[in-house]
Amino acid sequence: MSKFTAIRNAKNSNSAKKTVLRNRVAVVAGGLGVAVAAGAGIANAAAGPNLTSLASNVGSTVSAQAAAQAKAAKDAKAAAAKTKAAAAKAKKDAAKKANAWVKPVEKYVLGSTFGLAGSHWSHNHSGQDFVVPTGTQVHSVHKGTVVKAGPWGGGDGPAYGNAIVVKHDNGMYTQYAHLSQIQVHVGQQVGTGQQIGLSGSTGNSTGPHLHFEVRTGPDYGTGIEPTGFLRAHGDAV
Ligand SMILES: [Zn+2]
Repeated sequence: MSKFTAIRNAKNSNSAKKTVLRNRVAVVAGGLGVAVAAGAGIANAAAGPNLTSLASNVGSTVSAQAAAQAKAAKDAKAAAAKTKAAAAKAKKDAAKKANAWVKPVEKYVLGSTFGLAGSHWSHNHSGQDFVVPTGTQVHSVHKGTVVKAGPWGGGDGPAYGNAIVVKHDNGMYTQYAHLSQIQVHVGQQVGTGQQIGLSGSTGNSTGPHLHFEVRTGPDYGTGIEPTGFLRAHGDAV
């Protein structure tokens, strides 16, 4: 076979395929119950009752799908908005918590109050006692930096036993005394409510309790009434 004959045969083959295709269209159209010849207008076919009903069914399926998709999109949008709002609230709550002032111990009985001419102090009582069993978790009442931590009141005197002093961002200091265990070191940053040690009865103490002071400076002698301070800053004891 020459090259040209091969091309001609190929063309003939293509035209044969087209004929078969046309016939198939006619058969398919016939199957739908509409007598339509190959090449006849599609408009005629669409006018057939079965096709109209088919088109209508397709139409309703498409609109149902569109509605479902619209609902899914709306739901996804609502869920995203909800997640965003929850995240914003969590962030706000965390910031609020970090800026709050909290109690130094969870469960307690209030002991000797500030200014009391106490039985175990040669001077008026410089803080508020929280009566708790030895080993109770002691928390920093606000975020800050540890400026004293050690025995002998961290430098304030032997009466305090093991003690911690934390400096806060508003220029105030808090002190935690008679501890059985100190769990922070000088220079450490602590968060609001962070556990800093365990209560005890070290130093001049008649029994297990936390001695807590709010101070205007880092040292002994600068204490103010602490329960009123905590109440004013959001956590009544
Ligand atoms: Zn005390």
